[in-house]
Amino acid sequence: MLKGKLALVTGSTSGIGLGIARALARQGADLVVNGFGDPSEIAQLQAGLAAEHGVKVFYESADLTRSAEIDAMMARLGKAHGGIDILVNNAGIQYVSPIESFPIERWDAVIALNLSSAFHTTRCALPGMRARNWGRIINIASAHGLVASAEKAAYEAAKHGSGGLTKGVALETARTGITCNAICPGWVLTALVQKQIDARAAQAGISPEAARLALLGEKQPSLEFVTPEQLGELAVFLCSPAADQVRGAAWSIDGGWTAQ
Ligand code: NAD
Repeated sequence: MLKGKLALVTGSTSGIGLGIARALARQGADLVVNGFGDPSEIAQLQAGLAAEHGVKVFYESADLTRSAEIDAMMARLGKAHGGIDILVNNAGIQYVSPIESFPIERWDAVIALNLSSAFHTTRCALPGMRARNWGRIINIASAHGLVASAEKAAYEAAKHGSGGLTKGVALETARTGITCNAICPGWVLTALVQKQIDARAAQAGISPEAARLALLGEKQPSLEFVTPEQLGELAVFLCSPAADQVRGAAWSIDGGWTAQ
């Protein structure tokens, strides 16, 4: 379905981004992988994805908290490939702290990566998408883009902002073949969440398994994690012709979290 399309998935060296990259490659899309990690492991990942799915896989190491690096990456992709067709703004970080003691540099980093980077990639990707009159922009927001929890102010500000950015871009592209939507996952068991489970286990003096169940029990009625594979398939749907008129949506996939 996506043969001939080039997809940039930010933060795709692990977790949700990798799940989405795999699902897009399974549909034939060529990939631009981005994110941090050990260079030899990233090279292995690139080769593995290319061999498994018969697609081209490029790697961009840009630190997306720096707008100049984003501009340079997007310019390189424009020059080398004529731009990208599918943009998945996924790279994100979390920081947990009461607001009075929230470190200012952490606030700035969370907003820069989880929100501003999507503005920069989108503004750079849109001219090429408009020229081809086709594009898919998918912003990975969160249940925390719809509702809040204590001590996650920066993350929630960024993720609610991501929902607003999504709607604005969807309206500006409404009469084109470009769509822009947000996906709002609940808990997904990735490195980002494992850190929170470990902190909870250490703080309460309980096992990681008990901490995992407590985390789910608090928010996610299904008591099951959402998986990167399920998120990948949702992204594939949003790239399909069936989703041509899904525009500006904030699509929950959260085990019932925000139904409460
Ligand atoms: P993860 O930590 O497994 O992956 C994050 C990715 O971002 C990695 O590839 C990492 O290298 C990359 N990254 C980090 N800093 C970067 C930077 N400055 N520049 C470029 N890349 C950078 O996390 P994840 O859980 O897969 O999260 C992916 C996205 O999904 C995030 O936006 C997160 O907020 C969102 N999300 C996660 C959950 C969850 O439960 N895990 C739930 C809702 C939303």
